[in-house]
Amino acid sequence: MSALIEMRGISRVYRMGDTELRALDGVDVTIERGESVAIMGTSGSGKSTLMNIMGCLDTPTSGTYSLLGQDVAKMTRTELAQVRGARLGFVFQSFNLLSRTTALDNVALPLIYQGASARERRERAAAALATVGLAERTHHVPSELSGGQQQRVAIARALVTKPEIIMADEPTGALDSKTSADVMALLQSLVDGGFTLILVTHEADIAAYAGRVIVLRDGKIIEDRRQTPVRAVSHAGGVAA
Ligand code: ADP
Ligand code: MG
Repeated sequence: MSALIEMRGISRVYRMGDTELRALDGVDVTIERGESVAIMGTSGSGKSTLMNIMGCLDTPTSGTYSLLGQDVAKMTRTELAQVRGARLGFVFQSFNLLSRTTALDNVALPLIYQGASARERRERAAAALATVGLAERTHHVPSELSGGQQQRVAIARALVTKPEIIMADEPTGALDSKTSADVMALLQSLVDGGFTLILVTHEADIAAYAGRVIVLRDGKIIEDRRQTPVRAVSHAGGVAA
């Protein structure tokens, strides 16, 4: 069986007038099903650029990228939208929830594009919220939830389509350290349940929760190592099943 992600010689060059900036410079990386990978590096090292290419939000200047066994360069717009909508789940630093919309409806949103019935959307969104420990908060809007709870809603939204890969760019970047540990405990429980996780972080204590660490510098991978993940301890009392 092929790897979930296979990148060869991926570069991303930004041209600004006469100058060229190599945000990524010849990146080779293979990620297998079930891995939890932390992408690290200082600000400007290319982490978000790499994540955006992995998530098909950006296209490389050169190199080949095979995602879920398919050459991304050969996929149509519709195929890309389908993969992004159903087989990848995204989590962002700033949660990106709709502010006037309940937790349940925020989580149900990706299912609209899959043509699920209203009833199925409600049921699956409620189940995803239960998975992240928020069964009691389905009718709250984001402003009625703490930062950690909002990020758990966002994780439920990423999960609701049962994606193959969860991609999270600085998922704990807006959270205090205790809440960060809660969110990482939840993400670890998802990996235990078979999800593949790729997360970007610039914090070593967050990367310690992953089974593999890839370090970027100036758009190049300078380190790629496997490790025994530190187990994140949750204070939230949310049961992630
Ligand atoms: P990181 O997420 O590690 O902080 P990024 O991937 O965002 O780094 O950026 C890598 C490099 O590419 C940086 O030097 C950044 O300034 C540059 N860059 C990112 N996006 C753009 C863009 N849209 N146009 C020009 N340069 C960019
Ligand atoms: Mg970034």
